Amino acid sequence: MGTADGPDDSEERARTGTERIADFARTEIAPYLAAHPEDAYPRPLVERLAQLGAFAATVPAEHGGAGWGRAGAARIGYELGRAWQPLAGLVGTHLKLCGQVLRHGTPEQRRTWLAPMARGETVFARAYHEQGVGHPARLRTRVTRRGGTGVLDGRKSWVTNARHADRVLAVARDGEATVGVFVDPARPGVTVGEELPRPGMLGVSLAEITFEGYEFDPDEDVLGGWGHDLTGSLLAPDVTGYVSRALGSADAVHAHAVDFVRATAGRRPAAVRGALRLRVGELTTRVTAMRAVRQSLLGPDAAVTSEAAKVFCTMNLQEVLREAVLLCGGAGYAGPETTLGRHYRDALALLIVGAPNDVLLYRVGERELG
Ligand SMILES: Cc1cc2nc3c(=O)[nH]c(=O)nc-3n(C[C@H](O)[C@H](O)[C@H](O)COP(=O)(O)OP(=O)(O)OC[C@H]3O[C@@H](n4cnc5c(N)ncnc54)[C@H](O)[C@@H]3O)c2cc1C
Repeated sequence: MGTADGPDDSEERARTGTERIADFARTEIAPYLAAHPEDAYPRPLVERLAQLGAFAATVPAEHGGAGWGRAGAARIGYELGRAWQPLAGLVGTHLKLCGQVLRHGTPEQRRTWLAPMARGETVFARAYHEQGVGHPARLRTRVTRRGGTGVLDGRKSWVTNARHADRVLAVARDGEATVGVFVDPARPGVTVGEELPRPGMLGVSLAEITFEGYEFDPDEDVLGGWGHDLTGSLLAPDVTGYVSRALGSADAVHAHAVDFVRATAGRRPAAVRGALRLRVGELTTRVTAMRAVRQSLLGPDAAVTSEAAKVFCTMNLQEVLREAVLLCGGAGYAGPETTLGRHYRDALALLIVGAPNDVLLYRVGERELG
């Protein structure tokens, strides 16, 4: 039995909070997408997510958050991945940055940033990657100090939510250290490039950001304080969130394909119905295995690393999509119902984001071989 503020209470709050987000994702996103162009920024949905506490999920209550923890964030990733991946990307990036402010921020930075981040008033983007730069030590973006002013220069290749984020955490080199700078994109010295052409992940902006002589306060605007090194945490990124996003998408696609087969099987010859059973069996087995991997990863004694789980689930998602399209025939590819096509286009990005699957496989292999 939990006390008034005991663990059972906080678990119950997390459960009902994430349940509300699940309801929203399952009932409001599809009608919204049906009524709006897929490539338009979904401001009303982002505002609803803020109201429902999605941006507060991993921020502890003492910092103005919901304190739903890892399981809460995983549920949100799953539900948004099931409904629409770009929203999962926007919220996932922001929650990742809440975690970094919590872990690395000075007490003053935690006081300044976490409460508005949790309310969704200050939504963050992350400007880290530069094309082909796999190691933080090789980043070309730099900070320098001119007297009492910090200056940021460099270019970031892909930034999710570049155009609509209220703040950007820019990752840059400062001598031997890799630091994070809180950037106000509305101030001089920041240019957001054109929208990057892409097959999916539409709606939420994806663009380059250039910093040219961007001036900041070196005492207040560097995560953890001037010179605070993030290299270690950048080299060990947590890719757990992508596992939930992949499973969410796979569940949506699986349900869509099974509904289609059920609705159309009656008009097919018996032999074809048999063949369809086999294919549905294969599809269901893949999704079941993905679910088991995610459960193990999130459970108390994970039998799988987040790296292996991300690779397994995002790769299987590609197969699930191909099998589902095949099961649905022409209707899987073209028609008024665009669910499969959208998931298909968005799923490709999951092979890359966070860390490319090959990079993760390399690490898994390296550990295995010693
Ligand atoms: C939709 C989308 C959203 C994104 N959002 C953001 C964001 O918000 N913020 C941000 O900072 N970045 C973001 N990115 C960038 C993304 O994280 C990078 O594209 C990704 O980390 C890979 O970097 P790269 O493209 O430079 O690949 P490269 O380093 O050029 O690698 C290309 C390929 O080479 C191989 N390879 C490279 N290094 C290794 C290695 N060590 N071991 C084995 N194989 C290797 C792999 O096959 C890899 O896929 C986003 C990208 C996409 C597609």
